[in-house]
Amino acid sequence: MTPFAYTLLQRDPHTGARAGHFSTPHGEIPMPAFGPVGTQGAVKAMSPEELEEAGASLILANTYHLYLRPGAALIARLGGLHTFMNWPHPILTDSGGFQVFSLEGLREVDEDGVTFRSHIDGSEHRFTPESVVATQEQLGADVIMCFDECAAPDNRAYSEAAMERTHRWAVRCHEAQTRSDQALFGIVQGGIYPELRAKSARFLVELDLPGYAIGGLSVGESKAEMHAMLELVAPLLPEDKPRYLMGVGSPEDLFEGVSRGIDMFDCVLPTRLARNGGLLTRQGRINLRNAQYAEQAGPIEEGCDCYTCQHYSAGYVRHLLKAREIFGLRLASIHNVRFMLRTMGEIRQSILDGTFAALREEFLSEYRIIPHAAREAERARYRSGTRSLKRPQVAGNGSLGGAIEDER
Ligand SMILES: [Zn+2]
Repeated sequence: MTPFAYTLLQRDPHTGARAGHFSTPHGEIPMPAFGPVGTQGAVKAMSPEELEEAGASLILANTYHLYLRPGAALIARLGGLHTFMNWPHPILTDSGGFQVFSLEGLREVDEDGVTFRSHIDGSEHRFTPESVVATQEQLGADVIMCFDECAAPDNRAYSEAAMERTHRWAVRCHEAQTRSDQALFGIVQGGIYPELRAKSARFLVELDLPGYAIGGLSVGESKAEMHAMLELVAPLLPEDKPRYLMGVGSPEDLFEGVSRGIDMFDCVLPTRLARNGGLLTRQGRINLRNAQYAEQAGPIEEGCDCYTCQHYSAGYVRHLLKAREIFGLRLASIHNVRFMLRTMGEIRQSILDGTFAALREEFLSEYRIIPHAAREAERARYRSGTRSLKRPQVAGNGSLGGAIEDER
């Protein structure tokens, strides 16, 4: 009997939102769920105990990074990812496809797989659907992902070719799987093209996988385009399987995604923002480095139940961030991760109570959303800041590891 099952508890009468839970060998994931990202086997600046306290039920780790360093076989020898990182709860690993395909100029795709150069030392490696499943079996996460080709959203011909290849690779991943205690999710591709997305969803559903992800979104398309794709794809996916929107999102994205039937999200946003002084509040994102917070004796956010806000003033956390103290990164990360998880908890409870639509309206009317143009400019800054880091570098340059992660 499969250890994986999605149980639907409540459907929202006014939107596509739904509440349930997904059982895994390491416990239940209440859904909808947000998974903080632990790229290198740690959610940056946070301990497993702090993640538990913040309410995390699921965390992610990146196959690409762990494959390169320290190596999946080594992690297997040290007891697998749960033991290795002391996280006894559900873990999801991505396939590494997203990172490999962002290595522009350093990778070559063919029908069988992708050959690429490590961003750490320039050494040559090859991922195939079979090798990616084998690597994820060594890592041992509860949820593993099919190897997919993520195309730029604005090229239809490439989107179609990448989608077709993703389908052939999904079949190979499915056949390559040997462990029955890991749920292999398929990834719907097809860019911003409705007919491709529909075809992709239908193809993957035929494989009868334990869950489905929607990939290739939040990569530069408009929010309206992303929403249109979700409205099209989610109803084509099975009711009794989780639906995972990869690499999304911001607080407003949680509401928009859940309204359209999404059950799972992950994003580096809360931790990445925190390290740059961006703190999440119900009114929107604030820059704690700004002078106006220097003498704020109260917490970052009034009423916040996180460890940081319970014990420290905004002025103190600002000081630590300005002074580049490691503790400041921890305190800021704890607040942001708790903000995302508390928001998701409120979303879930409101679905169970039948008040989701009201909560959504209240949240979105209060929360100041970063305009599309500003968001794209920010994304471009990250891209240009990371491009030089994608060239092969000598080992030992400690800032490289986060570069590729930060693009997500
Ligand atoms: Zn807080």
